[in-house]
Amino acid sequence: MGKKILVLITIIIFIFLLLVYNKANTAFYPYVRDLGKLKLVESVKDFKTAESDHFILKYSPQDEKYVPLVLHIAEKHFKGVTEDLGYVPRKKVLIIMYSDADKMNRDFSLAKGSNAIGLYLNGVISIQSPSLWIDDYKVLPKVFEKEGPIVHEFAHFIVDEVAKGNYPVWFTEGVALLEEYRENGVSWGEGIEGKPYSLEDLNYRFNELDEVLAYKRSFEIMKAISSKYGMESIREILRLLGEGLSLDASFRKVTGDDLKSFVDAIS
Ligand SMILES: [Zn+2]
Repeated sequence: MGKKILVLITIIIFIFLLLVYNKANTAFYPYVRDLGKLKLVESVKDFKTAESDHFILKYSPQDEKYVPLVLHIAEKHFKGVTEDLGYVPRKKVLIIMYSDADKMNRDFSLAKGSNAIGLYLNGVISIQSPSLWIDDYKVLPKVFEKEGPIVHEFAHFIVDEVAKGNYPVWFTEGVALLEEYRENGVSWGEGIEGKPYSLEDLNYRFNELDEVLAYKRSFEIMKAISSKYGMESIREILRLLGEGLSLDASFRKVTGDDLKSFVDAIS
């Protein structure tokens, strides 16, 4: 066999392995996530359970009074978010409501000191009991709906389901904030100014960036994509990510545009 042919065969095998490996990543992801979910369910096995049409809520007895509110808000936004993102979950979605923020952070392996009112991990949504972050009982339902974590975390859930774990953090944050905007009219980081981050910053240094500005930039990018190419472009990008394509490749395939140039053009 000639040397050239040998090199060619090696290259072909290499490309083949790369393709298989990329596919394998998204193909095995759901199983890895299900294992993580089992662990989370185990950690709240003593919690009480309530159900609505599309959600299962785990909670502790002192939060019983918030159960109708949480399930009502989740159901209220179910249609909007699933239609926007083009995916209806096959099974009821698990939400865990914690009355103990430290336990929530431990179960969802969040670094101590961080204090998120909602988290998404391994196909499960967690929220802090509204009693932990809303003092005024009279406005609690309104504040919980508008500033609460339900729409945001549910959007993370769908992104993860459809894209099978194959996306950068800024992308899922951008989609979640876009859904908050579309469902609740909340514009993240409004009035906060700062130098807009580049796509490279967002892709490779997201956790080192200023949190508010990084989230704001992610929101702006997803909002710009939805205005220029419509929500159907985001649905299509999610589907292609789930097939193992990169975000750059998915964006180019759907819009014919280059993602870096598109981001650079948003001031
Ligand atoms: Zn988020």
